[in-house]
Amino acid sequence: MDLRDKIQLLPDNIANQIAAGEVIQRPASAVKELLENAVDAGATEIKLVVADAGKSLIQVIDNGSGMSETDARMAFERHATSKINNIDDLFRIRTMGFRGEALASIAAVAQVELKTRRETEEAGTYIEIENSIVKKQEPVAFQVGTSIAMKNVFFNVPARRNFLKSNAVEMRHIADEFIRVAMAFPEIFFSLTANGQEVFHLEKGTLKQRIVHLLGNHYTSKLVTVQEKTDYLNIYGFAGKPDTAKKTRGDQYFFVNNRFIRSAYLNHAVMSAYQEMIPGDSFPMYVLFIDLDPAQIDINVHPTKQEIKFEDEKIIYAFVQAAVKHALAQFSITPTLNFDLDPSIQKLDAVANPFTDEKKENTSASDLYNTFTQKNQAHFIESKSELKHWKDFYPQPKDQPFKSLLSAHQEDVPGRLEYEAAASGITRPAETKLQLLEDAPLLQLLHTYIVAPVNNGFILIHQQSAHERILYERYIAAAKGKPIASQRSLFPLTIPLSAPDVVLMQELLPDLKQLGYEIELFGKDTFAIQGTPADVDSGNEKTAIEQMLEQFKHFNSDVKFSRREKLVRSLAWQHAIKPGRSLTQKEMKTLADDLFACSQHNITPSGNPTYISFKTDYLEKMFGKG
Ligand code: ADP
Ligand code: MG
Repeated sequence: MDLRDKIQLLPDNIANQIAAGEVIQRPASAVKELLENAVDAGATEIKLVVADAGKSLIQVIDNGSGMSETDARMAFERHATSKINNIDDLFRIRTMGFRGEALASIAAVAQVELKTRRETEEAGTYIEIENSIVKKQEPVAFQVGTSIAMKNVFFNVPARRNFLKSNAVEMRHIADEFIRVAMAFPEIFFSLTANGQEVFHLEKGTLKQRIVHLLGNHYTSKLVTVQEKTDYLNIYGFAGKPDTAKKTRGDQYFFVNNRFIRSAYLNHAVMSAYQEMIPGDSFPMYVLFIDLDPAQIDINVHPTKQEIKFEDEKIIYAFVQAAVKHALAQFSITPTLNFDLDPSIQKLDAVANPFTDEKKENTSASDLYNTFTQKNQAHFIESKSELKHWKDFYPQPKDQPFKSLLSAHQEDVPGRLEYEAAASGITRPAETKLQLLEDAPLLQLLHTYIVAPVNNGFILIHQQSAHERILYERYIAAAKGKPIASQRSLFPLTIPLSAPDVVLMQELLPDLKQLGYEIELFGKDTFAIQGTPADVDSGNEKTAIEQMLEQFKHFNSDVKFSRREKLVRSLAWQHAIKPGRSLTQKEMKTLADDLFACSQHNITPSGNPTYISFKTDYLEKMFGKG
């Protein structure tokens, strides 16, 4: 037996290569790190040059502080940084970088050429480094600032190099990173040149100009200013007017202390502020900056720093939502209902008992609390007057209910019909026991409603809402008891998901299984649908799952619901038949019967009526016979 000790320290270049795997995943990660270094160096002009989608060259040239000869050499050591000195500095981070890992990682996986000069020095420094080994170092004539060129990324890690995607894909990632940094610093000139062609040329200017340059001229007159200041945090930026909402998620940017972040949670806060203004399946544009004391966040959780942890996410959520609602209300004629902030927010521990002892002392006079609640009240008052205004858009149906009902039919506006019916005193679903008349034929109107005779008149069922209620109760029962049968797919479909969605999906898998979905992780970020509930139409399982996830996120802020409740609601909403679908007699009958078999048949899970009832005595009165 070999009794010699076996453990040895890894050589630096190998240790660096391993560490690099976390920091530099693809050319775009290097772009991000180099651009951030230039920003941290105080540059006012930053140029990015790439060739071959970054695979052969990534170069960033800045006019920032530059480095001394010693610093230039030190910069490539692991954990070498000028940005923090001690652990407390971590809670005061205002720079983009602080880990001191980027340059060491870049030098471990590429050939790097650095040129740099400080203002106070005559000559600059040139360093060539490859595989973490310095190949050349000499004085050089160079402008003030720094240029770092990274060539042939992963030349020494073939497995990674082979893993890179097509140039189009890698370039898209580079552009994304470039846009995120350039968006956050409109006071800095940026350019991006790819294969000799200048793709972006961004003069210094205002945030609005920068957004329009980056995202397109069509936003010029479509941006609403968002601005709320409190002593806890500031929110500013722009939100797109509702008519700019798109079917694809895309132009949505959150920055916390100028750092781009992803947050499904905060995204939901914005989405909910747009509720009722945009169709449920579309995504508004926004560019929002949240500035707060760095001590309130932990930027350390993710190596590439796109996710951060807030000391208290719920407060931030409420602020974001209120700020966007407020902005939209001021600049839009679109009705804004429900202006009140969720009262449970004010009861949250963090608001009622702020996080540190110091702050606790100031609680009663806390500006946070006061500004927050005052603003909230202000919003509420606004909302009341807006609500009144909103009703003015519609003719008041009180005096001529019948006529307006008729005209509503003619104009084919179902939403309005429902609103007017409700406002005109026609009874909404009542508690009294209604009974469907056996064997009476049912009638579908406008491919949306079902007229069904009942014991004391007739009811108008909303097919989607009714079905949502039926499915909701069925799923709740399945989630708690006997699982729904699943039918195995012959050809499992795969769905690739974004990283946050992968996490979400994994959380949901056990409950989904209970509801008849057999889904498995298949690779790193792809899921395979092996089976679906027996009653789901085959052919659109993939869309169904994607939409279900979107809908789940939509519900996700509702702290009062459990994950399962949210999932069940999402699925019920997702699978409910939609307006526009014509139904056979048999289908209508089943729907009506199933609805009346529900334990709470008159409202949807979210509280909308599933039907409106027209009682005979009321109808008689309308005809002057009552
Ligand atoms: P970090 O940014 O986390 O400090 P990096 O590895 O990215 O770590 O950079 C190491 C150090 O090199 C930085 O702290 C900074 O002092 C210096 N440096 C890097 N890039 C530049 C630049 N473009 N201009 C001036 N100094 C730079
Ligand atoms: Mg850095």
